[in-house]
Amino acid sequence: MRITTTGTAERPATDLGFLLHKHPDRVHRKRLSFGEATVCYPEADAASCTAALIVDIDPIELVRGRRNAPASLAQYVNDRPYAASSFLSTALREMFGTAMTGRSKERPELADQPIPLTVQLPVVPCRGGERILRALFEPLGYAVDAAPLALDESFPEWGDSRYLDVTLQITARLKDVLEHLFVLVPVLDDDKHYWIGDDEVDKLLRRGGEWLAAHPERELIARRYLRHDRRLTRAALVRLIEADDTPDDTDTTARAHDAVEEALERPVRLNDLRLQAVVDALRANGARTVADAGCGQGNLVRALLREPWVERVVGFDVSWRSLELAARRLRLDEMAPRQRARVDLLQGALTYRDARLGDFEAVALVEVIEHVDEPRLAALEDAVFGHARPRAVVVTTPNIEYNGLFEGLADGRLRHGDHRFEWTRAQFADWCAGVTDRYGYTVDHSGIGAVDEERGSPTQMAVFTAGAAARPGKGVTE
Ligand code: SAH
Repeated sequence: MRITTTGTAERPATDLGFLLHKHPDRVHRKRLSFGEATVCYPEADAASCTAALIVDIDPIELVRGRRNAPASLAQYVNDRPYAASSFLSTALREMFGTAMTGRSKERPELADQPIPLTVQLPVVPCRGGERILRALFEPLGYAVDAAPLALDESFPEWGDSRYLDVTLQITARLKDVLEHLFVLVPVLDDDKHYWIGDDEVDKLLRRGGEWLAAHPERELIARRYLRHDRRLTRAALVRLIEADDTPDDTDTTARAHDAVEEALERPVRLNDLRLQAVVDALRANGARTVADAGCGQGNLVRALLREPWVERVVGFDVSWRSLELAARRLRLDEMAPRQRARVDLLQGALTYRDARLGDFEAVALVEVIEHVDEPRLAALEDAVFGHARPRAVVVTTPNIEYNGLFEGLADGRLRHGDHRFEWTRAQFADWCAGVTDRYGYTVDHSGIGAVDEERGSPTQMAVFTAGAAARPGKGVTE
């Protein structure tokens, strides 16, 4: 890894040495449990100064630490010595630990100042590719440049590897950049070289406390950082949410997106109309048990609990954060036992079959499908219509034709930053027809909100009913 700053008349670039606590004229080496870390400066003058951190990983050392693991060639021959990973994070902490705390003996005021920094990471294993790389660094203010590395330069026809050559640029405090790298490099790799315990949550919050709470990808970051351990991830997210719920900190991208959508739709109170339309459709279908799939913060769950004909309602969402907020807004903790027995919140993804969704007479998908990447919709269909197979499914989604009528929204633009698509009435009808064919349902279409003669209503709703000639199992599988 290389980190470069440029200097100004008042501040020579070589001050980087003071910030990193590593003198530019010397080579600094340290033995680590898995090899050796070296810091040196390939360039160091007043105009530009670069510190390089070289991590030499000794595969033999790695294996030695794991006496009980069965021996395999992969233990000796793997990408770890060459790729940026949690080993780099450990080396960052060992070599630049003081800088990461924001302290500088010689240049305390500089440590607090944003300075122009360029970070080069020549080989980054990146699960999810450049899209994830950008989703992690861009919200923090980085300009991201990434070039895929060929699998083998001598055989270009083999295509690209899963590794990227990454350059990140930002004007920020050095401390912040080191923290970002410390947390996000292993997140990109989606692996860690050590076993993790409860203290890993503390570590994540210590390094990420200031920026992670407001990061739109904080769930993905926590999940990957904590090696997909659900208990630890949940603990971390709860603590992050609490930190983030201070009144002056509402500036998360997700909230901003929600606010934009809400502001656009407010004049027609579309949200209320939508909820009412969905409740009415469920009642008309005689559904007494309902799964609110993609329940978000639980608006529909709350509305359904007010209906005496609803025996049981479950909010289901992939987002822990939304479920936490839903639990709070519903006051689940304080509910009387009889009321509490009618409701539950479950975490899960709608793009995977989930037996817990099979117990309901109806499933509602209110403003959810447009949050799913179009190529993944078939998996959602399979999970809901093919596998859970409730008697009724109520789907609402924006009608893109209407968008130009919202004040402040140009035609063709989407209403929400997380929408993967918004459909015209014809596109939605097409999708619905496909679903009815594939899964043996019938469908009724209606609009929600003020009707424009040409463009229709702002929200479109489809109510699917399982047909007499239902053909279970004829779904698309992954
Ligand atoms: N139905 C709610 C929320 C709509 S926002 C309302 O009308 O207020 C879309 C919701 O779908 C988000 O909470 C998001 O976390 C959830 N979601 C998106 N993709 C999902 C998936 N694959 N599985 C489960 N939930 C998903």
